Amino acid sequence: MKQQQVQDWTCEDAAEFYGIRNWGAGYFDCRADGEITVRVDGPGGESRSVSLMEIARGATERGLGMPLLLRIENLLDAQIARINQTFASAIESCGYGNVFRGVFPIKVNQQCQVIEEIARAGRPFHHGLEAGSKAELIAALSILDNTESLIVCNGYKDEEFINLGLQAQRLGVLVFFVVETPSEVETIIRCATREQVRPNIGARVKLASTVGGYWNATSGDRSIFGLGSNDLIAMVDQLRRHDMLDCLKLLHYHLGSQVPNIRDIRTGVLEACRYYADLVEEGAAMGYLDLGGGLAVDYDGSSTNDTHSRNYSLDEYCVDVVEAIMGTLDSEGVAHPVIITESGRATVAYSSVLLFDILDTTRFEPVELEHTKITEDDHQMLRNLRDAVATVNGNNLQESYNDALYYRDEMRSLYLHGQVSLRERANAENLFLQGAQQIRKLLDEAEEVPADLRALPTVLSDIYYANMSVFQSLPDIWAIDQVFPLLPIHRLDEAPTRSAIIADITCDCDGKIDRFIGTQEQEDTLHLHDLKDDEDYILGAFLVGAYQETLGDLHNLFGDTNVVSVRIQDDGSVDYSREIHGDSIADVLSYVEYRPQELFERFRRLAERAVKEGRITAQQRKQILHTYTASMSGYTYFEK
Ligand SMILES: *Cc1c(COP(=O)(O)O)cnc(C)c1O
Repeated sequence: MKQQQVQDWTCEDAAEFYGIRNWGAGYFDCRADGEITVRVDGPGGESRSVSLMEIARGATERGLGMPLLLRIENLLDAQIARINQTFASAIESCGYGNVFRGVFPIKVNQQCQVIEEIARAGRPFHHGLEAGSKAELIAALSILDNTESLIVCNGYKDEEFINLGLQAQRLGVLVFFVVETPSEVETIIRCATREQVRPNIGARVKLASTVGGYWNATSGDRSIFGLGSNDLIAMVDQLRRHDMLDCLKLLHYHLGSQVPNIRDIRTGVLEACRYYADLVEEGAAMGYLDLGGGLAVDYDGSSTNDTHSRNYSLDEYCVDVVEAIMGTLDSEGVAHPVIITESGRATVAYSSVLLFDILDTTRFEPVELEHTKITEDDHQMLRNLRDAVATVNGNNLQESYNDALYYRDEMRSLYLHGQVSLRERANAENLFLQGAQQIRKLLDEAEEVPADLRALPTVLSDIYYANMSVFQSLPDIWAIDQVFPLLPIHRLDEAPTRSAIIADITCDCDGKIDRFIGTQEQEDTLHLHDLKDDEDYILGAFLVGAYQETLGDLHNLFGDTNVVSVRIQDDGSVDYSREIHGDSIADVLSYVEYRPQELFERFRRLAERAVKEGRITAQQRKQILHTYTASMSGYTYFEK
């Protein structure tokens, strides 16, 4: 970062630098005092902004410290409303002859609080749920109390799954069974005949269209789920034989999650509509077209067809879908179906922010040592290194770097062969870092950076130690190289002059974040501020509401974080509507089958033996056991 930029820095620069307005979807911004705000619209359209730092302070005061998963209920409500209203206006403006009915796929975030909130906020729009397993169906049946909302059942279904759905249908719930594999048809027919319920059947087709993005294996001939055209016709014939073609009402497909390119979305709809029209032609009742998920989130804010972005807006998505359906079905004279989408990611991603504090940093800079003066008695290589570093200037960056590196490596090999002492080696490492840092600083001001030195800022970047586990809270970073917007939620009115990667507190070298969204392209380091002695430094990982909670694991026995749900009120005040304390150490131990009571008893015996053997007093035993039980009930993360 250039000196001038550092001096003139304001929060406007931060907004641009971190791309807040690109990925923030109008929900996040940065205000003059350097704090990130969340913006929600009030009932009359007037907006309210609240600082995330203030919300975090309030949570900490209430005993919910870092790391903390913040759920902002207003954003979940707003996304559900946006999706439904945008479809409604596309339907209206195109003159489409039917309605939109969204369903939320429970697998994307099964947390009870989230599903309850979706059911509540979705009620005016008859927004339903998608269940991919028996457990999800049970949750859906109990939480969704709206007979106009759909429950779409995908996934492998045994008799128990189907019977449960059929019984719910008796209660007036609008359940659809989507046939994923040929063998399921028979089970559905058998159960429905026995229960004497006319089931609502859907068919999941395998489209030939494949899509870009990370999840493209979900589409195409080899996709695991769905029926090919031959299976589909066999199903139609089978239903016809049982006089059940009137039960076949829905066509479903799912291209995969996070489809970045609108062209793929349109191609999928066009192909599906061909199937839809032909099923009508075959005599199936039809009436519903379910496009599955895939509506992408612009994680990096680039608005491109990159894996972490999307090259379309929600408006375009809805209009394109509606137009594509009309374009195909109108020419065949087929009535417009109810449009269903199963958007998961786009519905919940925005509403959760993971907040965590930075515990410590490592810098790749010289360490202060006594006796650093290099004299003529020192080894020739060390003196050469000193001289190379002393002569660094703007015109010899590459050359000085090569020299310094060479002499340092010579010193390392001399050390290995016992020819220089540990102290001399330490001096060499220090000198090298001093030179490299000087070169890095000069690079900031240089017109052109020599190719060999481009990686230098990354190599010399700091490590910021974050009080969280990537495996527990941001598993997609580890598993699929996902990038999330990551930045400090305060101090954005100061230039972030350090460049760093993030390491978590698991003892795993994969527990790190070293890919970040940048202004142009992804970057290897993130710009951050110096830590202050008297103030916590809090970062936020944004857009983490989809999939992250569900897929997280207990690596190193770091458990669930604290969670707080907030609702921003019409007067701008914050209501801490729900809170869940994170796992205690006893909780995580019991997940892996330890019995905390038994552990305590064993430790007690150990302590008692120490009393008997005279190593501690009985009073000390009391203190030791107290420490043990206090730890057992404590948070699994670093506590201040
Ligand atoms: C995972 C999944 C979804 C959700 O996809 P998003 O991209 O998160 O919207 C929808 N439908 C099915 C069948 C799925 O498997």
